[in-house]
Amino acid sequence: MDLKRIEKAFEFRKTLAFRLTLRYAIIFTLSSAVAFFLFFLLITSFLREQTDQDLVNQARTIASVLTVQGLDSVERIAILEAQAAGERKIFIRLLTPNGSVFSSSNMSYWENIGVERAALTQLLEGSRYVFDTVNVSNPEKRVRILYSMIGRKLVVQLGRSMENYGWFVQTFRRISMVTLSLLLAASGLIGWLMARQALSGMEVVTRTARDISSGALDRRVPVTRKGDEIDQLATTFNQMLDRIERLVTGIKEMSDNIAHDLKSPVTRIRGIAEVTLTTDPSIQAYENMAASIIEESDRLLDMINTMLVISKTEAGVDKFNREKVNLSRIVQDACVLFKSSAEDKDLTINCAVAEDIFLSGDRRMIQRMVANLVDNAIRYTPAKGVIDISLRLAAQQSAEIIISDTGIGISAEDLPHIFERFYRCDPSRTDTGTGLGLSLALAIAQAHGGDIAVDSRPGKGSRFTLTLPLKPSE
Ligand code: ADP
Repeated sequence: MDLKRIEKAFEFRKTLAFRLTLRYAIIFTLSSAVAFFLFFLLITSFLREQTDQDLVNQARTIASVLTVQGLDSVERIAILEAQAAGERKIFIRLLTPNGSVFSSSNMSYWENIGVERAALTQLLEGSRYVFDTVNVSNPEKRVRILYSMIGRKLVVQLGRSMENYGWFVQTFRRISMVTLSLLLAASGLIGWLMARQALSGMEVVTRTARDISSGALDRRVPVTRKGDEIDQLATTFNQMLDRIERLVTGIKEMSDNIAHDLKSPVTRIRGIAEVTLTTDPSIQAYENMAASIIEESDRLLDMINTMLVISKTEAGVDKFNREKVNLSRIVQDACVLFKSSAEDKDLTINCAVAEDIFLSGDRRMIQRMVANLVDNAIRYTPAKGVIDISLRLAAQQSAEIIISDTGIGISAEDLPHIFERFYRCDPSRTDTGTGLGLSLALAIAQAHGGDIAVDSRPGKGSRFTLTLPLKPSE
């Protein structure tokens, strides 16, 4: 239980905001630390060079005193100079090249500083100045030492306390520790605020997604129009939601329609059977019943099959048998095929088909789409009417099939709905329709990247314009 509570308390560690903050703070602090370190190196090397230069100058002065005034003056000057600068700060020793001391300033503060043999050897080998650093008691109390040959048989050992240097190092270390801690805290805070600000859009998306998963499918993520990544995510998310909502609504409508529209044929089948059973027991009546039931069942099966084809076509589940299709041939065949049924209704069919229009698509699907439109034109046009079917090349690499009739037309209220599944403007006008023909035609057209437009006036006729691109879009 307690473990769970602890885990929960540390849950924030998994958040993107925390990880961003952490990285930001680490990078910022590390770069500051590197900058501090480089600055430190620069200053300390400057201080050391300064000390070395002072020592060299001092050695030169002593050398010139030796040349001009002799050894006695050098011994005096060594003592005086050490006194003037402070005997705790510098010392001066005069040595023979083999290391024996024959004169020095007050060495009581520098007792444990000896003579470095290696330095003397280097001098004898020709080096002008040899430097050395000696720790007196701890690393902060360091002494910089210079060995230099000032006469033929005289070596000067100059020592200078690096107290200033030690003080600088200590102070710098203290200041940089405090500053780096403050920088770490400040960068963490700033990073946290920046991450929160940048990710606040994500939270809105998450909250909306949570609302949607609990049923509010109409919720949308607010788009700020800043055009940043969060906005793009919000827009894509909303588009996805639109599509999901359309699909869910479609599925709901579809299931309502299925329930409603499949009920009628099933009820009819049941009615036919019931009437035959209860009224007329003759063989003839049973034969009629069987025939009617077969007819109704075929209709039912046809509806179910068409519904399946529409759903699959819309969802893109059925992979098309894409091939090079002769559209001119399909439209001409439709004209020939429907000629007799048009003549039966005393209708005239005119065909104006441009030759050799090819496109890439599913031949059987396109045949079905054209057949549905021509079939509708025949069914909804009374005797003596005229049906015009044409095919031509249109703008933007597309083909245009126009099927117009002088039939009963469609009212302005019905027009926006005729492509909906099971929608029938006036079911009493024909009893053969299912309300699925146009839905299927539109689904096929759209699956080929095309569209169907309709223009109709009640009592005057309708004109369906089917546009199909010649080449499939990528
Ligand atoms: P149906 O099986 O009822 O014909 P459709 O989906 O093919 O179903 O058409 C939907 C409705 O659109 C039809 O019920 C009809 O009222 C109307 N319609 C379709 N084509 C025409 C047309 N050429 N003229 C008049 N009305 C039409």
